[in-house]
Amino acid sequence: MDITPILAGLNDAQRAAVTSESRHLLVLAGAGSGKTRVLVQRIAWLIDVQGLSPQGVLAVTFTNKAAREMRTRIEHLLSIPTRSMWVGTFHGIANRLLSQHWQEAGLPQHFQILDSDDQRRLIKRTLAALHLDEAQWPPRQMQWFINQQKDAGQRAADIEADPADHLLQTQLQVYAAYEAACRQTGAVDFAELLLRSYELWRENPKLLAAYQTRFHSILVDEFQDTNAIQYAWLKVLAGEAASVTAVGNDDQSIYGWRGARVDNILNFANHFPDTATVRLEQNYRSTANILKAANAVIAHNPARLGKKLWTESTGGEPLSLYTAADEQDEAHFIADTLQEWAERGHAHRDSAVLYRSNVQSRVLEEALLRRNLPYRIYGGQRFYERLEIRNAVAYLRLAVNRDDDAAFERVVNLPTRGIGARTLDQIRQRARAERLSLFAASRQLIDQHGLPARAANALFGFLRLIDELATSTAGLELAAAVEHTLETSGLLEFYANEKGERGQTRVDNLHEIISACKDFQPDDPAAAPLPQFLAAAALDAGDTQAGEDQDAVQLMTLHSAKGLEFPLVIIAGLEENLFPHARALETPDGLAEERRLAYVGITRAISKLVLATAQCRRIHGGEHYNQPSRFLRDLPPELVEAVHSTRLTPSPQPAFKPSPITAQRDSAIAFGAFGLGQRVQHPKFGEGVVLNLEGAGHHARAQVRFRTAGTKWLVLSHARLQAV
Ligand code: ATP
Ligand code: MG
Repeated sequence: MDITPILAGLNDAQRAAVTSESRHLLVLAGAGSGKTRVLVQRIAWLIDVQGLSPQGVLAVTFTNKAAREMRTRIEHLLSIPTRSMWVGTFHGIANRLLSQHWQEAGLPQHFQILDSDDQRRLIKRTLAALHLDEAQWPPRQMQWFINQQKDAGQRAADIEADPADHLLQTQLQVYAAYEAACRQTGAVDFAELLLRSYELWRENPKLLAAYQTRFHSILVDEFQDTNAIQYAWLKVLAGEAASVTAVGNDDQSIYGWRGARVDNILNFANHFPDTATVRLEQNYRSTANILKAANAVIAHNPARLGKKLWTESTGGEPLSLYTAADEQDEAHFIADTLQEWAERGHAHRDSAVLYRSNVQSRVLEEALLRRNLPYRIYGGQRFYERLEIRNAVAYLRLAVNRDDDAAFERVVNLPTRGIGARTLDQIRQRARAERLSLFAASRQLIDQHGLPARAANALFGFLRLIDELATSTAGLELAAAVEHTLETSGLLEFYANEKGERGQTRVDNLHEIISACKDFQPDDPAAAPLPQFLAAAALDAGDTQAGEDQDAVQLMTLHSAKGLEFPLVIIAGLEENLFPHARALETPDGLAEERRLAYVGITRAISKLVLATAQCRRIHGGEHYNQPSRFLRDLPPELVEAVHSTRLTPSPQPAFKPSPITAQRDSAIAFGAFGLGQRVQHPKFGEGVVLNLEGAGHHARAQVRFRTAGTKWLVLSHARLQAV
């Protein structure tokens, strides 16, 4: 047996971890020290050297992107297919379990996964059914409460409330009603996936025993971010025989707000006897400057496990700090930096822009679009969360499961087919009274002539459409089935008729679903692909997004950057109240978690770290003048270099946004002969192509890519631009 490829390139501590004979193993180490690498090599070691079966390996990572990378790396090391191995996220693995044991779990075969938005809608309907006022009982808070309970492993019935505690009483009432609604429609929210599969094992000891026998090795990355139910799930699965490897770092625990417990890592050795603990102290990722900056920021946190981290690499470039006038200026600076980076021959995908809050991405996107820089957003407005995609997915979901009420609500009158609010109310009432799904209630209302003729006809048309979709797509390949659905439902046409750029983008996005289907690889090739695709779409919005392979700048929140690394990292919005987040400033724990998030952000950078802060920021509809983030003050000054914008021309004003109707009228006048893609001639800049048109009247502007003079925005009323 040649073990060189598995152990080559590991330091002594890493090697000790990979080959540890101890029953359980905890690898506790700072960022970039090779924890994930050790986890992967250990899997290879267990299979290749210890001779354990690949089916017996269960590896849990935090994102699907990480899981995919892990698979690739194992395949590379072992040259064996990893299909039989369970590698995935907690949610993905729980879904896989429930799909295989839906009967034992008390679920319909094609149970629907509610994402966060679906869940909130269902909570709203539940509140309405209970005659609770949304203003007094905000659905978001209810959602928070319910998920928190589920993450802690508690059902409504498990919680005792003091009769005098009106708040808790009401929350429990909603929780219970919500549970009933989920049961009725076979809906499973994210937290439920975990809780339900935990209960599945608890109530089916034979099934549990079978899995306990199967999985000899369980390995968990980012262990510091497991919550109570995930931990319980692991513990019950591990049973008495399996060996558990956990790797993590208390300094990178950033999901406390979602119920993650750092204690899990602190108590690991108590709960899992015979644990060997390995510490890794060498950082292989970042330059010395970046590492010093990270260490300086995290040093302010109390109660750390105290890891030392050093690197062989010396110095490196200083960190750059840009102080922007406002968020537009910041975005332009970032776009400039990215452009320069690419011009120096680096790949776009090696650069990332990280931000604290999703709402920051819009301005950044606009700046990148202006420069024609390709980018890809992880998280935030994820592909599957876009309106048109959600609507398309709703049709697909209904075709698989008529009782999917969330999907029904979404598309029953989209495109408009004359099913109004009154009819919908009647359907909802009937559904409640008869404990039926909306689809079944509609059918009953029609059969019993409970609706005015026009409404009944319109509704009948919809039900027939769904039935027809279900039968006509049954024998088709996934992509063909989806394409057929998009056409037959009228959705494609509906969005194609929406005027302007937005309609076109939506149509493009719909076409992207078809591409996503073509690329989709089901977990279980023998089972129907559509339900698997829908589950994957609901679970993993960001990852199947279009253009995964394209060379593009990576945009994401600091939270989603966990575990990743990029040669160039830009962190935007380093201001008090934004990062650290205003909400977090209210408690010491909150602040400590923000600081860990800063540590995570800084340690993503391999060779260059750029920080940006804005003196004024328009965000959430207001204008804010915040102090620079305290994390900036914590950086050793000798590591940081203040930089100035390299831009010679002032940034274009924010796009003038007329109402849609005037936009169409004015643009017809103002843009005259110019359309997108139009070839043009400019007296000074020469020949070019129109990339973008925006604004109206005197503000009408065109973005033109000139053959030799680069890309420029020109105001049409001054530019002496001619169509050729
Ligand atoms: P994080 O805490 O951010 O998740 P990590 O501890 O999981 O980081 P890895 O991602 O496994 O760290 O490794 C960081 C980088 O260092 C990777 O590019 C990895 O390939 C590299 N690396 C790890 N160990 C070694 C080594 N012994 N020799 C060379 N490079 C290494
Ligand atoms: Mg890692």
